[in-house]
Amino acid sequence: MKMFVIDVAKCVGCRSCEIVCKDEHVDNDWSPIALPQPDTGQHWMTVKEKERGQVPKVTVAYTPIMCQHCKNAPCMAVAKDGAVYRREDGLVIVDPVKAKGQKEIVEACPYGAMFWNEELDVAQKCTGCAHLLDDGWTVPRCVDACAHDALRFGDEEDFAEELAAGELLKPELNTQPSVIYLNLPKRFIGGEVADLEKEEVIIGAKVTLTNLETGESMETTTDWFGDFWFKQIPAAEYAITVEAEGYRTREVKDFVSTVEKDLNVGTIALYEA
Ligand code: SF4
Ligand code: SF4
Repeated sequence: MKMFVIDVAKCVGCRSCEIVCKDEHVDNDWSPIALPQPDTGQHWMTVKEKERGQVPKVTVAYTPIMCQHCKNAPCMAVAKDGAVYRREDGLVIVDPVKAKGQKEIVEACPYGAMFWNEELDVAQKCTGCAHLLDDGWTVPRCVDACAHDALRFGDEEDFAEELAAGELLKPELNTQPSVIYLNLPKRFIGGEVADLEKEEVIIGAKVTLTNLETGESMETTTDWFGDFWFKQIPAAEYAITVEAEGYRTREVKDFVSTVEKDLNVGTIALYEA
């Protein structure tokens, strides 16, 4: 069985994957695998962009989204006459002839990965470039184009580690995707430590973050800019303790919450002991 691995931490948002998908499918008829993708309105591969944090502690997360080639595919379940089927290699394909007029196939997909082609009166989506695989390619165009190794494709047995460590999109739906995500964005807390009287940042301060629900804690130290970051942490309430030689230890508890969003706690001032 084939599967995709998408490492969100490696994606830089260059959108090469989107562009080559268009290059491969717009105006090209790969029947019986796929009819031509229209110029606009369909994104068989799309890179979602999410701005996180507050200025100046801001990052952008890029998450490539595509058909998840579900083993328990809702689109297949509603399709009549076998209009959506799963190949022996696991790729889910829309039959361009049988799927004519079956708009309900589009609505059945919980990932927004199926599109309606008004002109051709048919549902369409990512095929995993099955026409190329059948022609000897080892990976689809998007994977081939990703220079950052954020997209991988291959046999399930070669991805045992990724299967164990990765996550699925919307696992609660039990669609059993064939796309595994690594490093899906969790929350972050960023901030800086400074001596406001001297108007200097404090380098090398020890910052401890304690999860108030679980009691678990983690440590980091401030960098050359006095900044600290805790990345990929759960959404929770926290306390921050800051220690630095020659300064009084400071604990910050109020409003240190990532329940709603990523957090820039701003400047934590330390005072000389
Ligand atoms: Fe991300 Fe790779 Fe797509 Fe570029 S080609 S947007 S790095 S997945
Ligand atoms: Fe079907 Fe959507 Fe699953 Fe793809 S992601 S197989 S279109 S239900």
